[in-house]
Amino acid sequence: ALALPAAVYMIQEQEVHAAEMERTFIAIKPDGVQRGLIAEIISRFERKGFKLVAVKLVVPSKEFAQKHYHDLKERPFFNGLCDFLSSGPVLAMVWEGEGVIKYGRKLIGATDPQKSEPGTIRGDLAVVVGRNIIHGSDGLETAKDEINLWFKPEELVSYTSNAQKWVYG
Ligand code: ADP
Repeated sequence: ALALPAAVYMIQEQEVHAAEMERTFIAIKPDGVQRGLIAEIISRFERKGFKLVAVKLVVPSKEFAQKHYHDLKERPFFNGLCDFLSSGPVLAMVWEGEGVIKYGRKLIGATDPQKSEPGTIRGDLAVVVGRNIIHGSDGLETAKDEINLWFKPEELVSYTSNAQKWVYG
């Protein structure tokens, strides 16, 4: 094969990796923000080796909250849930990494904090289902939809994280 400079191979490898990379939408709900848990929660995703590609603090309108939770509109708690999500600042984020959708859900723990394992975010930091501090996309399609709902394409930051080559080898 044609000998290419090492730097070219490195770029090609990074591009291959980038193509495999999955993204998920993670939000710290108003209870997590008000309780001062932003740094604690971000730290868990960051230390794992996932890459932050977007973040903003927003107070969603009730209509926006209804869009975000549209799948749950038939549930009895839907109205209270949307009131709650729109009651204060939400830290909206996009995290990237291999398997980040499924593993993000693992880091978060079960929906009901009483059933979340210790060591998970909800297990360690929350007590009741209506105040479970964090949201994470539950699949590839919902991740895409939620990222598109909360972020404009130009808000997703494209950069090289030097840590990534040590995380993935
Ligand atoms: P998850 O957030 O774990 O994906 P769901 O999509 O089932 O869970 O529910 C969305 C959110 O609705 C939950 O995170 C929780 O805040 C709220 N919720 C779910 N079930 C209940 C319930 N029985 N009572 C009150 N709120 C609930």
